[in-house]
Amino acid sequence: MNSYLVGCEERREALYLDPGAEVDSVIGEARRRGLAIVRLVGTHAHIDHAEGVAEAKEKLGAPYWLHEAELANLRRMPEAARMYGFPPPEVPEVDGFLVPGETLEVGALRFEIRLTDGHAPGNVTLYRPGAGGEPGHAFVGDVLFAGSVGRTDLHMGDPAALLRSIRTQLLTLPPDTVVHPGHGPETTIGREKAANPFCQPGAERLFA
Ligand SMILES: [Zn+2]
Ligand SMILES: [Zn+2]
Repeated sequence: MNSYLVGCEERREALYLDPGAEVDSVIGEARRRGLAIVRLVGTHAHIDHAEGVAEAKEKLGAPYWLHEAELANLRRMPEAARMYGFPPPEVPEVDGFLVPGETLEVGALRFEIRLTDGHAPGNVTLYRPGAGGEPGHAFVGDVLFAGSVGRTDLHMGDPAALLRSIRTQLLTLPPDTVVHPGHGPETTIGREKAANPFCQPGAERLFA
């Protein structure tokens, strides 16, 4: 699972996106780069993306934000842990809700909050448009991966919603937009549009 440290070099503030299993290494990386982690954010609340939130909150004193529709997944973490045979993680308090259409700021960086449901009901994408010849960036959680998409067979997954999210919220972004997924390597919107079978017309049949 990919956690991300998204920092503003100008104001030395950072978001810690999807605190999973390696909280100390991310906190250490922020310190090395002289960044203060001011907010914890979840793209969604499957256990691999949220098991480290309680620990990160305790160590950083930073608030945790999530889409409201992910509260159910967050509260199911102990059950999911039992299913996978892990010790159950502590379920953290949520301090604020991410609202699609609103903006999330960290230092001088601004991200559009987009709802990209289907893998999970409140999976959000954080999108920063490109500027001055630099490409945009999209942190997409588990909706779109390099060459694939997120599972829809988990609790509250929905294949039709997943394809609609990808088509309306992601494939409409500029092709050079860098995609930072919840698992696996980075890609771009253009590359996925060209080669990802789930980004082609008629992808519905892949779920049949
Ligand atoms: Zn997930
Ligand atoms: Zn995941």
